[in-house]
Amino acid sequence: MDDKRFYDEKQETKQIPLVCPHCRQEGTYPIRWIVRTKKNQLPAGANDDDRARFGKARSYMVRVDEMAGCRNIRCRKRFELTGQTVVLF
Ligand SMILES: [Zn+2]
Repeated sequence: MDDKRFYDEKQETKQIPLVCPHCRQEGTYPIRWIVRTKKNQLPAGANDDDRARFGKARSYMVRVDEMAGCRNIRCRKRFELTGQTVVLF
């Protein structure tokens, strides 16, 4: 069974404070994430192996966006996002 069946998946946009590395201006940027929330129950048709993996599974989210564009009109450069790309919760 594919691990994806253990989760309900949705896309979320979170407002994340970032500092542009070019001009140092701080701003809040909408960053997209895929949120995978673990289901309450093991999906039907699971075998023992699936059951064991489901037991260890945790809800998590994966960052979709790799880059942000600076909002400072005198800069407007794109920069790479840093920090975690996968967050467990
Ligand atoms: Zn900038």
